[in-house]
Amino acid sequence: QTLEDTLLAAIRTIPDYPKQGILFRDITTLLGNARAFRRAVDELVHPYAGTKIDKIAGIEARGFILGGAIAHQLSAGFIPIRKKGKLPHDTVRVAYSLEYGIDEMEMHKDAVAPGEKVILVDDLIATGGTAEGAVKLLRQMGAEIVSACFVIDLPDLGGRAKLEALGVDVRTLISYE
Ligand code: IMP
Repeated sequence: QTLEDTLLAAIRTIPDYPKQGILFRDITTLLGNARAFRRAVDELVHPYAGTKIDKIAGIEARGFILGGAIAHQLSAGFIPIRKKGKLPHDTVRVAYSLEYGIDEMEMHKDAVAPGEKVILVDDLIATGGTAEGAVKLLRQMGAEIVSACFVIDLPDLGGRAKLEALGVDVRTLISYE
């Protein structure tokens, strides 16, 4: 079975969640499938074998699960990027656009040092608004973003193009048109 087939078979699609007309791609079934979870993580880390990566930045909450596994595999540290108000120490904060409206996300100011090589991780990229916010936070603190990695791309929503326009290398494993 190809990687793509393994992942597509392991991801569940929920119609009309969180609202009418949305097809929600649910990776909890992938995470619960030992073989699919391992293959996804192996594929995401593969290009960086032998490269020094200082930190993995994961976006709350599914980016924490994938990012933690990737950090372990690459012997890198982990940076949580969270919704506002969840981190206990001094933070940098950025507003980012959601489908309807805006929200804010934060990162600890001391989570990354200038020049550190960081890979950004989340489960899925749609419009790219969330990942763009995370890129801004990391760059504000001087991180060098090596890549932004996602299991799922929804290319019609333009997120990959948005990140690439910011000079970010984007890697995704599967896409749903
Ligand atoms: P964006 O900011 O429009 O790119 O949306 C991406 C963010 O929303 C990520 O943090 C995803 O976890 C979440 N998201 C959007 N759509 C889905 C979906 O269908 N399944 C899982 N997560 C989603």
